[in-house]
Amino acid sequence: MRVSEIDMVSPKSVEDCLQLLSVNDRTFRILAGGTDAVVRVKDNVWHPDTWININRLDSLRYIREENDGIHIGPLTTHTDIVHSVLLQKKADVLVAACKEVGAIQMQNMGTLGGNVGTASPAGDTIPALFVLDAKIKLRSHSSERVIPINEFFIGPGKSLQQHKEMITDILISPQAENEIGTFEKLGPRKAQSISIVNVAISLKMGSKSRECLSGRIAFGSVAPTIIRSRKCERMLTLGPLTDVAIQDVAGTAWKEVMPISDVRASADYRRSMASSLLERGLYRLMKRWEDK
Ligand SMILES: Cc1cc2nc3c(=O)[nH]c(=O)nc-3n(C[C@H](O)[C@H](O)[C@H](O)COP(=O)(O)OP(=O)(O)OC[C@H]3O[C@@H](n4cnc5c(N)ncnc54)[C@H](O)[C@@H]3O)c2cc1C
Repeated sequence: MRVSEIDMVSPKSVEDCLQLLSVNDRTFRILAGGTDAVVRVKDNVWHPDTWININRLDSLRYIREENDGIHIGPLTTHTDIVHSVLLQKKADVLVAACKEVGAIQMQNMGTLGGNVGTASPAGDTIPALFVLDAKIKLRSHSSERVIPINEFFIGPGKSLQQHKEMITDILISPQAENEIGTFEKLGPRKAQSISIVNVAISLKMGSKSRECLSGRIAFGSVAPTIIRSRKCERMLTLGPLTDVAIQDVAGTAWKEVMPISDVRASADYRRSMASSLLERGLYRLMKRWEDK
């Protein structure tokens, strides 16, 4: 199907959008930045009766800190996130992930809600949202629910979001002063590429040399959905993160991930790369912490 042939409506408000989604006799799909959608339409993978273009709903584009955490509107673009001083300070791992999404054009058009909505196990922002304990708010015409990110995805391209629902808010827990994060990615090309493996890391550091009080690690593209690496996380706090300790943690990741082989990489290659990316990320974080 050609993109010019699709049927599209542009609601004036979130309420209008939810009203449209509640109609029973047509299938709808939301269009935000359209960067995933255009590809899927061309490939005839997604073919709803009507697209709902929410791109002009400015009330869904915000970043603000409140008592319960930092709220990010689903229409917030990757570029908005990269430029946010608040997120640079309190969610550096998400900023790092957004910098790695495709090329600049993709970052300008693509949205956080769209990256979550696609539910790809390779989506770059999702591991970062895992380590920031994100919560996804879904609204329909008649109900509202908030789902922790670790329960939201149920398989490749699948989440708990129902057809009548849309993502209206993403809440993250801000990093503390002594927390630092990074995002490491292996893609087939430098830009414009979906991850072969990626990892988001956030560490809460202590006052002693290389002391890690707690850490969060989430891998993408190594399982049907994003996974937290609990064994590696526990190892982070067993003693100072010396070079030997970092290599032990990275070695454990090799056993913890469960990748598949596909056209982009073999399972064994993904395992090795998961381990290497974690090692690289931990070294980088130690260097940054020591330079601070
Ligand atoms: C050349 C190219 C390179 C890319 N590189 C990367 C990359 O490196 N890393 C990466 O992670 N992704 C990459 N992508 C994928 C894409 O750019 C991102 O996933 C982007 O964040 C999608 O956002 P969007 O606003 O364009 O989503 P859209 O295409 O508008 O929508 C994507 C999906 O999310 C749903 N959706 C959107 N908003 C909502 C909402 N508010 N509520 C409910 N559902 C919603 C839509 O219905 C659709 O199912 C790439 C895509 C292309 C074409």
